[in-house]
Amino acid sequence: MRAVRTVVGDVPPDRLGVCDAHDHLFLSSPRLPGEELRSVGAARAELAAFRALGGGAVVQWTPYRMGRRAADLPPLARESGVHIVAATGLHQAQHYDEAILKAVRGPRLAELFVAELTTGIGLSGVRAGFVKVAGGFHALDRHARWTMTAAAEAYHATGAPIAVHLELGTGAPDVLDLLCGELGVPPERVVLGHLNRAPDLLTHRHVAASGCYLAFDGPSRAHHATDWRMPDAVLALVEAGFGDRLLLGGDTTTAGARSVNGGPGMPYLLRRVRERLAAVVGAEAVGRMVTENAGRAFSVEWR
Ligand SMILES: [Zn+2]
Repeated sequence: MRAVRTVVGDVPPDRLGVCDAHDHLFLSSPRLPGEELRSVGAARAELAAFRALGGGAVVQWTPYRMGRRAADLPPLARESGVHIVAATGLHQAQHYDEAILKAVRGPRLAELFVAELTTGIGLSGVRAGFVKVAGGFHALDRHARWTMTAAAEAYHATGAPIAVHLELGTGAPDVLDLLCGELGVPPERVVLGHLNRAPDLLTHRHVAASGCYLAFDGPSRAHHATDWRMPDAVLALVEAGFGDRLLLGGDTTTAGARSVNGGPGMPYLLRRVRERLAAVVGAEAVGRMVTENAGRAFSVEWR
């Protein structure tokens, strides 16, 4: 049976409800000093605001050792009534101290991913539901190839989907060549993130044709430059027949971007993005993106 692995257990995909397919309740990176998402109270308020607009599920793309606060996620899910899916995986090297990377060098990384997917994150007992990795700007460096190779191994061991941060939305063909071409991951188990940051419609269509999922996930302030291109990009993909491959998310990456701190945050997806996209592709198509598509992309026949 296919199930989405949430922080409180596996649930059938049709029980997710309206899903923010890429966001963060908690996140810390040396690249974002002073903007850490660390407050449990703020996360609780953000979830409540999302729930109040009909939100049902949040997929948190925060990987290993970036402040996931795994143990805090189950109580937040229970209190809010919002399903939460946690990630394992590894981000770009720039988000870590060298000592953290050194400790998981080599084949240990795949073992770590599998353990977090099957037994739990640290001692929390909270299991991850997918693997998050990252590419680079129009290319993949050695670190990206190492982490993606481990992610592919974790897929083969568990069936877990792999979600990829594309740097400024670029590099998707390289990611697919590696994950699907070289490493044998089926494209429908790959979710590419941040397509909105590189509104290259030709590449969007090209990668969508592989069968992978494309996440448009960026009203967070840091990505302002391309926010206004999103409706055109989504429309082009729907018209090309790829509406069932599209996912939507908020990607709140800084404390200032939380709605409870005056930013767009998680509710913005339901408050504005949804209606903006509905104006170009229709409410029904947008509704399927945040329900059926997300359920399909993140549900797995767990092995
Ligand atoms: Zn993110």
